[in-house]
Amino acid sequence: MPERYIGRFAPSPTGPLHFGSLLAAVASYLDARASGGLWLVRMEDIDPPREVAGAADTILRQLEAHGLQWDRQVLFQSERQPAYAAIVDDWLSRDMAYCCACSRKDVRAMGGIYDGRCRHRHIAREGNAVRVWVPPNTSIRFDDLFQGRQWQVLDSEVGDFIIRRRDGLFAYQLAAAADDLHQGITHVIRGSDLLDSTPRQIFLLRLLGANAPVYGHIPVAVNPGGQKLSKQTLALSIDHRDPARNLLQALAWLGVPVEPALAGAGPGDILEGARQLWSPRCVPVSLSRPAPSGWA
Ligand code: GLU
Repeated sequence: MPERYIGRFAPSPTGPLHFGSLLAAVASYLDARASGGLWLVRMEDIDPPREVAGAADTILRQLEAHGLQWDRQVLFQSERQPAYAAIVDDWLSRDMAYCCACSRKDVRAMGGIYDGRCRHRHIAREGNAVRVWVPPNTSIRFDDLFQGRQWQVLDSEVGDFIIRRRDGLFAYQLAAAADDLHQGITHVIRGSDLLDSTPRQIFLLRLLGANAPVYGHIPVAVNPGGQKLSKQTLALSIDHRDPARNLLQALAWLGVPVEPALAGAGPGDILEGARQLWSPRCVPVSLSRPAPSGWA
């Protein structure tokens, strides 16, 4: 029997949802529901300096207001620290990872790709980063649902990469891979800004003895200057007083041919109509597209 589809939406609580993050939520939700699957929400609260008090709660209220009801309990990555620590300890003890004292400036001087110089230096743990060792000829290939075939030679294009930062915080790549495995995620639908993280996550999943999920990277919404909508570009928060309007705009942007008849409907009916029409083929093949006016 094929395994059951389990999808997820994994926001970072660095601010409320904006149009760009609503697109990732809607696309991952529809792809899961159209396959009769589960849709989980994971709060990626692993970087306290970047987080905004109350943002996690705001995001959950915004999802609810848009009818984006998740399954199971929300997983908070801040509660998963012992699991990430156990992985890092295990890999250090098996020489699959090592401590590294090099600064960003050092890495820039190497041409941006870490050359492995701390591999055999027996650097102290305290105050230093931990890198995972990427063996030669680590070539990662995957077929993206929206962007087609992707291929990266991880050792020469990325190099050994950080899994725990020098300040002791765990890297996004490690936490995401560990939790996609922990939650049994079969499909990862998210923005194309994360496309180049995917080979690293597939590699980490392999080290954890797991198969990679299916990945699909939708285009990201950009402002007139071509920048991805984000807190840094002052993207507007989604106004949850008019969720139906927001959903219809998100669906139109994603290329889902929702009927004009749904124009006066509530979020639940709009999502159900969209679920029936959803196919990854609706979404224009592109890495980015302009956000509708008023959102950027
Ligand atoms: N937390 C990440 C973000 O908000 C997304 C992670 C993911 O979907 O893998 O950009």
